[in-house]
Amino acid sequence: MKFGTKAIHAGIEPDPSTGAIMTPIYQTSTYVQKSPGDHKGYEYSRTHNPTRTQLQNALAALENGKHGLCFASGMAAIDAVIKMLVPGDEVISTNDLYGGSYRIFTKIFQNYGIKFHFVNMADLGKVEALVNKNTKMIWVETPTNPLLNIIDIKGCAEIAKKHDLILVADNTFATPYLQTPLDLGADIVMHSLTKYMGGHSDVVMGALIMKSDELRERLAFIQNACGGTPGPQDCFLVLRGLKTLHLRMERHCQNGRKIAEYLRSHAKVEKVFWPGFEDHNNHKVAKEQMNDFGGMISFVLKGDKVEDATHVLEKLKFFALAESLGGVESLCGHPATMTHASIPREDRMKAGLSDSLIRLSVGVEDAEDLIADLEQAIG
Ligand SMILES: *Cc1c(COP(=O)(O)O)cnc(C)c1O
Repeated sequence: MKFGTKAIHAGIEPDPSTGAIMTPIYQTSTYVQKSPGDHKGYEYSRTHNPTRTQLQNALAALENGKHGLCFASGMAAIDAVIKMLVPGDEVISTNDLYGGSYRIFTKIFQNYGIKFHFVNMADLGKVEALVNKNTKMIWVETPTNPLLNIIDIKGCAEIAKKHDLILVADNTFATPYLQTPLDLGADIVMHSLTKYMGGHSDVVMGALIMKSDELRERLAFIQNACGGTPGPQDCFLVLRGLKTLHLRMERHCQNGRKIAEYLRSHAKVEKVFWPGFEDHNNHKVAKEQMNDFGGMISFVLKGDKVEDATHVLEKLKFFALAESLGGVESLCGHPATMTHASIPREDRMKAGLSDSLIRLSVGVEDAEDLIADLEQAIG
C-alpha cells in the first residue's frame, strides 16, 4: 500500500458497534464487565481506550512498525523511554538536540543516576568512541533543530546493533512521509504528534512506535504504570490530522524549496540552512534516507545583528511569531531569544546559533504570498 492510501486507511477499522466510518471519541473512563474478568478487551482508560487504540494502529502502520503507544505529550513519550533505564546506564545523543529533550535528560534523569553524552552525531566515529559497557541507548534526532543537521540513521543503527544498544529516533521534524527510521534499523520511533502529525496546532500529544513485541511490552507497562496517557478527544484530532499528512507534507516540501531558494538569492541574507541544498553538509545522507527535505528552514542575516532579526520578525505577517512548528500555518521564531535563550551566548555561537538566526516553519499557504511577506519584512 502506498503512503497516501495508508494515511487514510491503514490501521483503521469502522466502529464495530455502529459502523461509524470515523473513529468515535470514546469519552469514558471505564467499561462494564459481564462477570469479573469477562470484558471486551477494555477495563480502564489509562490502560486502553478504543479511540487511542485506532490512533496507535494508524501510527504503527505509517511508520512501518508493529505497535504504537500514545502519550499526553512528546515529552511524556520521551519520559517513558528513559524509564526503561536504571542508575549507571548511559545514553549517547546529539549536541543539537531539541531543548526539551536536553532538559529532561540533564535536569531530571541525570539526578536518577543515568548519564548522557552529547556529541556531533554527523561524525559517527565520535558516537562509537563513547560506547562503553554501561551504554544502553543511542538517541537520534534528524533533521535537528534549528540548524537542520542530518544524522545518518542507518550508520547509527549499525553501531547500535554491534554493541546491543537500543536506537531511538525522534522523527518529529521528518514524519514518516519523509523518512521511516524503523526501516533504517532504529528500534523505537518517537514523535511529538503536536507538530506535523497533528498538523493543525490544536493538540499536544506524543507517541512511540516499534516493531519488537518485547519493547512494546516494557513501554506499555511504563505507560500504564506512570499514566502519561492522552484523552480520547485529542486522539480523535490527531486521527483526523493524519488523514491529510501526505497532502500537507507535499505542500510543506514544495513551499520549503521555493522559500529556501528565494532566501538564498536575497542580498541581505548571509546563510540559509536547508538539507535540500547540494552544498548542505550532509545533503548526501539526507537524499538517501529522506524522500524530500521538509518545510523547516533557518537563515542568518548579513551583519548578524539581533535588532535586524527582531525587525524582520516583527514585520512578518503570514509567518506568526510563535513557538512550535509543523502546523498548516507558517510560523517564525528567533532561537537566540526564544527556544535556545537558556544556552549561554558563547556556547550558542559555538554551536552555530548566531544572533540573527531566524527559524521558519513553512506552512501550506501559497508560496507567492509567503515570499512577498518575506520580501516586505527583510526589505
Ligand atoms: C516539540 C518537540 C518535542 C516535544 O514534544 P511535545 O509534544 O511538545 O511535548 C520533542 N522533540 C521534538 C523534535 C520536538 O519538536
